[in-house]
Amino acid sequence: MKEQYDSESGYCRVLGHHVPFSYCRCVNEGLPCRRIRDCWFERIDVGRFIDDNYTEAEQERIFAPPPEKIASILDLIKKAKGDN
Ligand code: SF4
Repeated sequence: MKEQYDSESGYCRVLGHHVPFSYCRCVNEGLPCRRIRDCWFERIDVGRFIDDNYTEAEQERIFAPPPEKIASILDLIKKAKGDN
């Protein structure tokens, strides 16, 4: 059940204030924030929550690096190869 931890709240280092778990599990286009494991592992069994509620494909989307990070990694690879 995805709502089981919705009443929990924790401090968000990105936003700078407390947020409910219900926010963290939906903020990424309806999927959880990709930092959800780091932020919640001390308080709930977040690994099990993810495994129980999201398919493998959804988990890949949740934890995929953000597009700008991929672009900068590709730039670094190009520069390392001397392909500017
Ligand atoms: S999981 Fe994401 S939205 Fe939730 S507290 Fe952590 S960084 Fe903030």
